[in-house]
Amino acid sequence: MSRSNAAASSSRRQTNGTQQHSDDEAERQVKPTLDDEDDDEDDDPRSHWSRATFEDVPMSKAASIKVLREIQDKFNQVADNLSKGVDLALETGKALEEASPDDELIEEVEKNLWTILEQKEVLEIQKGVIDEVINELTNHGEMVGVEALYHTRAEKKVNEYTSKSLRAKFKDNEDYRNFRQDIWEVNHDNEACPPLSRWLPRGDDDEEGSDDEIEMGQTLVTFRCPITLHYFEDACVSTLCNHHYSYAAIIMHIEQASRSRNVGAKCPVAGCNKVLTKADIKRDPDMQRRTDARQKKTQQREEDSIANESYIDIE
Ligand SMILES: [Zn+2]
Repeated sequence: MSRSNAAASSSRRQTNGTQQHSDDEAERQVKPTLDDEDDDEDDDPRSHWSRATFEDVPMSKAASIKVLREIQDKFNQVADNLSKGVDLALETGKALEEASPDDELIEEVEKNLWTILEQKEVLEIQKGVIDEVINELTNHGEMVGVEALYHTRAEKKVNEYTSKSLRAKFKDNEDYRNFRQDIWEVNHDNEACPPLSRWLPRGDDDEEGSDDEIEMGQTLVTFRCPITLHYFEDACVSTLCNHHYSYAAIIMHIEQASRSRNVGAKCPVAGCNKVLTKADIKRDPDMQRRTDARQKKTQQREEDSIANESYIDIE
């Protein structure tokens, strides 16, 4: 019934021009499938409506787009509220850092912020899918099952996003950058904020080694000595090439090379050809401080994940 009705109305459109076309669409929005109103004029035709009445009925293009735009408006309202949550997290994080640097509560605020930012991104994905469907409606006219089409596509994209690691989700996120940068600047006057990966745990899909080698501008910074392969101990830097080492390890490396060849030692960093003497090595307490912070954070994370696992076991 619905299909012949649709065919009938489309043939009427062809013969009756634009005005009839829009009247016809308005009528079909109100009475989707009923074509027998002449037979029982006393009945309210809406009394026959049910969910089944609407299923698989091609909604008119205008009606479908209207419904989709209404959903988008609701998403925008939710997004506005989430943005207020982001602002609050930024203010709270800064206030905590001012009151007590590196306060553990900042990480609690950070977790809340991640949740809010995930919700914001999911909304953006859903809005994007609605745009896609509206475009297709505009190009193809009537479509059956617009709602199901939207849900299937949105669900797939949302799942793809939510299964990503924290690092993949937020390393380039502007709101998260503002959060970390604002907190950083409270206690670091002349020091650029490190890349966000510093605070984002590496997930299974993130590149190996990206935990200890983070990009700062164009140079890679590592917190591990190229000789011992462990975290720096008594970190020092070569004034010739800016590579870092553990002090005892690089001094021994230079002494061994000097004994055998009576010259300096080649920098142990792969691809670096500088020849170093002890005079080129300077202690770098700032690098040591950052290494300690990184090491502490990594240990804390491991302890947390062990604690979480045993919690699940008990359950
Ligand atoms: Zn070097």
